[in-house]
Amino acid sequence: MSELRWHPLLSQWVITATHRQERTFLPPDDYCPLCPTRPGGFPTEVPAEDYDIVVFENKFPSLQAVPPEPAVLGSELTPVSPARGACEVVLYSSDHRSSLTTMPVRRIANLARVWRDRTRVLGAREDVDYVFVFENKGEAVGVTLHHPHGQIYGFSFVPPIVQKELEASRAHRERHGRCLFCDCLSAELADGRRVVLEGERWVAFIPFFARYPYEVYLAPRAHQGSMVEWSEADVEDLAVVLKGLLVKYDALFDKPFPYLMVCHQAPVDGVSHPEFHLHFEFYPPLRTATKLKYLAGCEAGAGNFINDKLAEESAAELRRVGPRSAAEVRRADASSGG
Ligand SMILES: [Zn+2]
Ligand SMILES: [Zn+2]
Ligand SMILES: [Zn+2]
Repeated sequence: MSELRWHPLLSQWVITATHRQERTFLPPDDYCPLCPTRPGGFPTEVPAEDYDIVVFENKFPSLQAVPPEPAVLGSELTPVSPARGACEVVLYSSDHRSSLTTMPVRRIANLARVWRDRTRVLGAREDVDYVFVFENKGEAVGVTLHHPHGQIYGFSFVPPIVQKELEASRAHRERHGRCLFCDCLSAELADGRRVVLEGERWVAFIPFFARYPYEVYLAPRAHQGSMVEWSEADVEDLAVVLKGLLVKYDALFDKPFPYLMVCHQAPVDGVSHPEFHLHFEFYPPLRTATKLKYLAGCEAGAGNFINDKLAEESAAELRRVGPRSAAEVRRADASSGG
């Protein structure tokens, strides 16, 4: 069962996907459905003895190319629509114990090329208006499989948070003739207190208005709307700064750092979006080494975040740990055989 139900009060779609309840939940390491199929072993999702990076359709998709007919009837107030779209799983490596953080820069760059390709392929589909690349990492954010992987959703509509960003960006562009995100980025670079790591082409920073204690944005200095605009130099520098940021995250509390990583890019809805500036957002659920930040009444119920930490202090903490510069990320990568 899977369908879209309209939420008339919030004016947005809710995806129902009841079959997801049967998903594999934290299987033992030797019974991982995302590992390569070992000779004589049980068949996994990947019928190969080894692989580099693999993309396949989620076995338990919330959205699909040929969705089932909705199981309920909608009404004028609450329309129902088939859950059309795509749900893909991206396996970063055949090594079960690897992670985006520990991978060589070269492999992270390959992953970025895969994201770019999938954006192009899914973006060309008639039924896809938005390509959403993301990763949930750690049991704290509900990950049910430890094998290093991320996901890509192809939505048949523009999701609500991106919709809000688009509206704000459009209004700013109409009023000032400039990109809202470019203006935020140059303010961050001029101030400097919240910058975490700088590459030639990419910058990681905690935004002035951060909602989570260690929230980080990772964005290209150049005004780019979509992954399909990435040059090879963009991809390579992204891999270095992304790796540097994740190594810093793990160094912060000296343990694997859980996070949600999402990429906001321009919609592929057949209209051009010169107002939109691509960026990654990281929402880590930790506020200290042992305390989780929960979305409680104020956040979940009123939509207003309360951040218990100053963005300036969190950024200073992140600057102090792990690699101090993009050059240091490159050197460490080269010396470990990356
Ligand atoms: Zn595995
Ligand atoms: Zn911009
Ligand atoms: Zn965003």
